[in-house]
This record gives sequence, C-alpha cells and structure tokens, in this order.
Amino acid sequence: MAAPKVAVVGAGVIGLSTALCIAETCPSCSVTVLSDQFSPNTTSDAAAGMLIPHSCPGTAIHVQKQWFKETFTYLFSISNSAEASEAGIHLIFGWQVYKNTPDETPPFWSDVVLGFRPMSEAELQKFPHHRSGQAFTTLKCDCPLYLLWLEKRLKAAGAQLYTKKVADLWELHHEYDIIVNCAGIGAHQLVGDEKLFPVRGQVLKVHAPWVKNFIRDGDGSTYIYPGIHSVTLGGTREKDCWSLSPDPGTSKDIFDRCCSLEPSLRGAQVIKVKVGLRPSRQCVRLEKEVLSQGEVKLPVVHNYGHGAGGFSLHWGTAIVAARLVGECIAALQSSSSRAKL
Ligand code: FAD
Repeated sequence: MAAPKVAVVGAGVIGLSTALCIAETCPSCSVTVLSDQFSPNTTSDAAAGMLIPHSCPGTAIHVQKQWFKETFTYLFSISNSAEASEAGIHLIFGWQVYKNTPDETPPFWSDVVLGFRPMSEAELQKFPHHRSGQAFTTLKCDCPLYLLWLEKRLKAAGAQLYTKKVADLWELHHEYDIIVNCAGIGAHQLVGDEKLFPVRGQVLKVHAPWVKNFIRDGDGSTYIYPGIHSVTLGGTREKDCWSLSPDPGTSKDIFDRCCSLEPSLRGAQVIKVKVGLRPSRQCVRLEKEVLSQGEVKLPVVHNYGHGAGGFSLHWGTAIVAARLVGECIAALQSSSSRAKL
C-alpha cells in the first residue's frame, strides 16, 4: 500500500496537536489539515489556556488524569526549553480560593501540578471574602502563539494545511484513506452529534503587567490568568448559547467580579473582548468508526468534545487519536495485502 493519506478536519488546539502527533508517530503517512478557520479565528484562540482540568462526568477519573498528566509533561518540557517564548508556554503560580471550604479530597490533578498545598493563613488575608484555598504552580498557554507554533511544527514535519469547509466526511474519501474529526463544536453539524452542545464563554484581555499570579474562584466562575502579553479575565458559562457577539453588560460584570478578587485591576485597561463556544458533551468523543456506503468503507477517528478543558487535555487525547489512526493504517494494510493474494 502507498503512504496512507490522513486528513485531519479542524485547526484548533485539538486538530493541530492531533495532526502533529500523527505526523511524529507515523512518519510514513502524509498528513493534511483541512479547516474552515485557522488561528486567530478558532474557539481555541479565545481560551484562557490554563492547565487546570474540569472533570468530565462521562470519563473515568484515571483516564482524565492520564490525559492531563501527558499534556502537563509535554508542555512542561516545552516551558523548560529554548522554544518556550515562541510556543507561548510558561509556568505560573497562584491560588484557587473558596468561599465555602469544599468537602472533597484534593482534586485528581493535585499531584500533577507542582507544589499543590493548602493556602496559608497569611495568603488567605489577601482574600477577605474567602475561607480557604489551594496554592500551586501550573502551566499556561498563550493560545494564539501556541497554535502558530503547532502550525509551524506541522509544516516542518511535512504536513499540508488548507482552508476548506467540509460539509460531509464522505467528500474526502476519494483523496484520503483515513479522516480524523477534530471539528470542535462544528461536529454538531458535521457528524450530527446531538450530544454535543455549546457552552458560551466570554473573556476580557487587559493590560495589567503588575498582576503576576493567577487567582481562580473555586467554582470557576471568576478568574484572573496573567499571560505573556495580557491578563485574561473571566468568565461566563452559558449552556446552549450559540452567540459569538461580545456582550458589553457581561464584560462589565466580569471586570467588576475580577476587581473584587484583585482590587489592583481597577487601573487595568481592556485591550479586547473574546467569545468562544466550548464544545461540550458528557465525555470527549475519542474513538474509531468505520463509515460505509455499500461496499465502500471510510475509517474515521473522532477526537472532539473537550468542553472547558481542551488545553488541559489536548496532548493526552492526541496520543490516543494517533494510536487509533495507527490501528486504522494496520487494518488498511492487512486488507490491501489480502486483496493482492
Ligand atoms: P476549536 O478551537 O473550535 O477548533 C475546531 C476547528 O474545527 C476550527 O478550526 C474550525 O474552523 C474547524 N471546523 C469546524 N467545523 C468544520 C467543518 N465542517 N469543516 C472544516 N473545519 C471545521 N480550556 C482549557 O483547557 N483551559 C482554559 O483555560 C480554557 N479557557 C477557556 C476560556 C473560554 C472563554 C473558552 C470559550 C474556552 C476555554 N477553554 C479552556 C476550552 C478550550 O477553548 C476548548 O476545549 C478547545 O479550544 C477546543 O478545541 P478544539 O480544537 O476542539 O475546537
């Protein structure tokens, strides 16, 4: 069989990382990324890019932990290399604070991030409206920089990237042997996944270079995430809302909530407002499917539905998707050698 041709649909953090992982683990295949939007116009560009997982109820905790750990390890090594500033990856220390102390034991990811511990009484004095909290160091991606870095790595690995809206995966079967579906919320229409729904999020990017530590209200409703060029203030979670237009009332509310956590932000200047639709479902769809039209078969690997945690989990799920692509290639090779007999 000639070099297998793989098409990856989608150029957010999931599509680009999956395509890169396939190109690196299967150098004999040709990888093409097809997407109607590239950075800076994807949901992934609107994300805060913090590595703090949200639990997905439909996925076993040990699986979520494995994906997070692989992603953390991968980005940690980038943060510790000469590539760090171009890739937009850095370590960041901060606090997750609670008004009511949670009864749960430490979260499943507490031994993956660095130096996780309860906040000291002295630290808690900074947050007079909160009773308890956790301090730790994690990683943050500057999302547009990281997406551009992934694109650059992909091109260096010989992959092709084309702008194309795919209306039906069967459009691709004449040209490609295997399709990888990383369409994010676009999978709702592309493969008719009714279990996938948007959770709209709005964030502000502000100029506040004096803010160096992250602060996250434990319920995830309000957060302050300092990045390389700006500080991200959030957030909102509006289930089933498809609107991509920023709402000025919401921006004011986010700003006020963040100022009550970090009063020095009152002096910050808003640079821009971003909106994105988190591709949410009970669990990430990470599986093989063989589509058929009569005798014709089309192997597909799905990797979408990362909800609020695409950056936190992307490399872990890319590794699994690349392994599933490897299994599809092996199946194609064995059926092509059987056909020759
Ligand atoms: P996308 O980035 O939406 O990419 C999908 C791609 O598929 C796009 O390129 C699109 O153009 C393409 N596409 C779709 N349909 C088609 C089609 N039919 N044909 C061709 N191309 C198609 N996660 C974290 O881990 N940490 C955070 O701090 C964080 N903060 C967030 C803050 C906000 C405000 C939001 C909205 C999200 C946040 N997230 C965060 C979640 C994260 O953004 C998502 O989980 C992640 O971006 C999903 O990536 P994706 O590649 O699946 O989707």
